Amino acid sequence: MRGIVTGRKAFGKIILAAALVGGISACKKADNVASGVTEEALAGADTASGNWLTHGGTHDEQRFAKLEQVNAETVGDLGLAWSAEFDTNRGQEATPIVVDGVLYTTTAWSKVFAFDAKTGKQLWVYDPKVPGEKGFNACCDVVNRGVAVYDGKVFSGTIDGRLIALDAGTGKEVWSTVTVDQSKPYTITGAPRVVKGKVLIGNGGAEYGVRGYVSAYDAGSGDLAWRFYTVPPGPGAPADGAASDDIIEKMRATWEGDWSEFGGGGTVWDAIVYDQEFDQVLIGVGNGAPWNHKIRSNGKGDNLFVSSVVALDAETGKYKWHYQGTPGETWDFTQTQPIILADLKIEGVDRKVMMQAPKNGFFYVIDRKDGKLISAKNFVPQTWTTGVDMATGRPIETPNARFENGPFLAFPSALGAHNWHPMAYSPKTNLVYLPAQEVPFAYVDDAKFKARDGGWNIGMDFLANGAPEDKAGFKAVRAMLKGQLIAWDPVAQKEAWRVQYDGPWNGGVLATAGNLVFQGNAKGEFAAFSADKGEKLWSFDAGTGIIAAPVSYSIDGEQYVAIMAGYGGAYPLSSGFVDNPRPMPNGRLLVFKLGGKAPYKIEPIENAPFTIVEDSFTDEQVTAGLSAYEGNCGVCHSGGAIGSGVLPDLRRSAYLSDKDAWRQVVLGGSLKDNGMASFAKYLKPEDAEAIRAFVADRAKKGAAAEK
Ligand code: CA
Repeated sequence: MRGIVTGRKAFGKIILAAALVGGISACKKADNVASGVTEEALAGADTASGNWLTHGGTHDEQRFAKLEQVNAETVGDLGLAWSAEFDTNRGQEATPIVVDGVLYTTTAWSKVFAFDAKTGKQLWVYDPKVPGEKGFNACCDVVNRGVAVYDGKVFSGTIDGRLIALDAGTGKEVWSTVTVDQSKPYTITGAPRVVKGKVLIGNGGAEYGVRGYVSAYDAGSGDLAWRFYTVPPGPGAPADGAASDDIIEKMRATWEGDWSEFGGGGTVWDAIVYDQEFDQVLIGVGNGAPWNHKIRSNGKGDNLFVSSVVALDAETGKYKWHYQGTPGETWDFTQTQPIILADLKIEGVDRKVMMQAPKNGFFYVIDRKDGKLISAKNFVPQTWTTGVDMATGRPIETPNARFENGPFLAFPSALGAHNWHPMAYSPKTNLVYLPAQEVPFAYVDDAKFKARDGGWNIGMDFLANGAPEDKAGFKAVRAMLKGQLIAWDPVAQKEAWRVQYDGPWNGGVLATAGNLVFQGNAKGEFAAFSADKGEKLWSFDAGTGIIAAPVSYSIDGEQYVAIMAGYGGAYPLSSGFVDNPRPMPNGRLLVFKLGGKAPYKIEPIENAPFTIVEDSFTDEQVTAGLSAYEGNCGVCHSGGAIGSGVLPDLRRSAYLSDKDAWRQVVLGGSLKDNGMASFAKYLKPEDAEAIRAFVADRAKKGAAAEK
């Protein structure tokens, strides 16, 4: 028997029990390698075993593989062992889990796959059949960041808010539970975590207006064990009967007005980390809803626990401590970004810390014992503060950072100085490897803000951020957008080295004991750098952008490196600043080993020509269309309708030239199964026609610019 999990005593007992009970033969049960993933196996997870048992490799989520066969000397011989193509070109954000030779992963639209990790043979696929129109509720693409594996089951969330347990051997559903009010625009994109026999899951939706929480479900039965709300119930509303009840009054004291109208936000859509040493769960909490603090809370109060990290008792879900990086959040500065646990020696003292680099641009080192801030330093240029006051732990905001006297051009911005793309920590180099970026955003109050049921409710005027139409203007904005892989010394709070990219939204990171750091980038290059110096030692052209994080595992004495390739997510969908966008190919799972020679080629998909519309439109229609487009379409089809390649470029759509067909798509929902929901709730026929006028104008200009 191979692997640390199947080698454990506990597994021997399970085999024996299964054989005695009968019905399932010991052999059949052994096919379900995940049967050996017990609480002890998770607690003792060690990447040296060749397995990758949890989202971040171990409970500490350092994303550090203690494997050395692929190393700075041998990496030049790394080649493709196998690859698999998926059935969607939407963003691929999952981190695979690998258990004793089986690799589990998820794709866009919340599908779950199991592969033989050595040969690439697909063992099973599970499709939760998310209704296509539910894609409308996903602010940032219909992505999924992966599964959790425990006790013979695979757990994953769905875009429509379900948590599903599958038999890890067969992919058959064991139980499924709805974790959200499905009449509200909640989504799940994050990976569940298993802590003490419970499956922990959060959700997203703060751009639309929901109230955030994290839930724990019994892994065996799917019954709710506890729930913690990150935002208090509205003024005068009764307690929830939840783990957060004890702390409601402390939370309420930091809010003004009636925040419950928009839910308050604070969704727990990514980081959920189990800190074994203090038996606590650390959750990263998202932005406020609406973003605009003036609308959300009359511009007053810190709004706990929006934009915070909160420690909860692992058994009960009750509050232990919190640290709020952005009090009174008003920039979409989520603090959900990945959390890494480590032991660091700081000023000669061993400290048990958590490290996080959330959207607001600061790298935080926090004492896990009590949540006390140890240090904070910005890792990219930022304009919203002059630093963090270490006496209070609060940011010192710059004048007009809250755009009280007109527009404020902020670095970083809603897309984050660092977003969900996982960072890694190497205990060998004592460096954190951080996918950072520089993306500005002009914050402007939305003077005409009116809540829209089910739509984006952020209280910001997006018009100021549409892509400039002229080439020079476009180029000027494009030149501001940057990305980096930063090696960060968390003790000294300073950069050790960096790889500079000419654009943001690059992939997550893996560090290995072979003195390597692996990262894919937006342009589709998957590369290895030396962990100590940042020298590029190897690269592979994936033929499609990479945003996910790699993992490494070993089988039969061979080390593998696996990465999900497939571009998408918030940045391309909303900004559209993708160089020479073309329709994206389907996502792939790429797996490498030394001497791998599997063939690989992705043919680029050419753009359709711009659609030239013969109908004539008035200037008023085009102007009204711009406003309606940016308010309804731009967050997915890209600002300024310039296209990103992920969703269809509307300027090249065949529907554009046909008024009725356009209306059928926009208002009639004729493409709802593809993810294009009907906008009849929000738009009148004349609005749909105005949007067509605007896009047709953009198509005409695009065609002219090509000449
Ligand atoms: Ca957000």
